[in-house]
Amino acid sequence: MAKVTEHLSKNNGKPIFSIEIIPPTKGSNIDGLLNAIEPMMELNPPFIDVTYHREEYISKQMPDGSIREIATRKRPGTVGICSAIMQKFKIDPVPHVLCGGFNKDETEDLLIDLNYLGVENVLALRGDYAKPYDSFMPKEDGHTYANELVGQIVAMNRGQYLHEEAEYLNASNFCIGVAAYPEKHFEADSLDFDMLNLKRKVDAGADYIVTQMFFDNQKYFEFVNLCRQEGINIPIIPGLKVLSTKKQMEILPKLFYLGLPEEFKKSIQACENDKQVKQVGIEWTIQQCRELMEFGVPALHFYTMSKSDTTMAVAREIF
Ligand SMILES: Cc1cc2nc3c(=O)[nH]c(=O)nc-3n(C[C@H](O)[C@H](O)[C@H](O)COP(=O)(O)OP(=O)(O)OC[C@H]3O[C@@H](n4cnc5c(N)ncnc54)[C@H](O)[C@@H]3O)c2cc1C
Repeated sequence: MAKVTEHLSKNNGKPIFSIEIIPPTKGSNIDGLLNAIEPMMELNPPFIDVTYHREEYISKQMPDGSIREIATRKRPGTVGICSAIMQKFKIDPVPHVLCGGFNKDETEDLLIDLNYLGVENVLALRGDYAKPYDSFMPKEDGHTYANELVGQIVAMNRGQYLHEEAEYLNASNFCIGVAAYPEKHFEADSLDFDMLNLKRKVDAGADYIVTQMFFDNQKYFEFVNLCRQEGINIPIIPGLKVLSTKKQMEILPKLFYLGLPEEFKKSIQACENDKQVKQVGIEWTIQQCRELMEFGVPALHFYTMSKSDTTMAVAREIF
């Protein structure tokens, strides 16, 4: 088992094939997920990101007729999936760890579990809003921003736990990734302000960055240059998604606050069905990958949504 940064530095300047998967919906069997990952093993990804899905709130009628708000998790199981990935594929899992839905003690307990499992990497995030709310509310005594969460993980890496004061506590050894947004995080008033906050995460101890998906490489190139000017010198892994339906052309920009290049949109609009859109999406991503490789990216990170077909169609051309 190794750290993401070690994997990146061991690859002799060649970008790594990297993937993100999501846990199945509650009640599903893990076999479906493992079967979806299996074909991607052909390209030896050295690590796999596993997303974390916080609770959402639904109204539920109780036996006495009253209505209660219930917290429920649609996609639990991040930690178990990490363990299954280690056992079955002997690959480093990178669990996503969130501020949202956790207080600091619960975060510490989660990190202890991960440490006992032998997980050496985490992606530290603030997390999405708890549905159906339209703003981020930290849990009482939880973190509000990802830089604070990075601070807690770094403290544990020094052997500093929240309440224990013994001198020789077992220090964890997590390599810490954080998120960044080449087209700006939607809440930030400007890219400059967002950059300031990214710098906070790096100064707090982040080891590498993974970007939000983008379809215009220029946005990534400009973003990386800006980071370097601001003294952010850790690896910046580009996030990629293969657009494969006309519906995604509408949804992805709204969901992730990103732009689609006009040329790409025109090609999608000209398609008669989603089979053609998929092909256009694959070809676009292949072109993106080739340019990114020329730029010298450390890895190509694919948001797979736990499906292998489009990612593999791109990756087989590239790696
Ligand atoms: C690679 C990647 C993986 C992801 N995986 C998941 C996942 O598994 N589960 C999930 O729920 N979500 C996930 N997300 C989504 C992410 O949680 C959301 O985008 C969230 O809104 C922001 O998370 P963050 O860690 O970037 O937040 P932060 O870095 O905390 O930033 C959030 C906002 O606050 C601002 N800000 C940051 N610090 C400060 C500060 N100290 N003072 C004032 N303003 C500040 C920032 O500019 C930004 O606008 C992922 C995103 C990416 C890019």
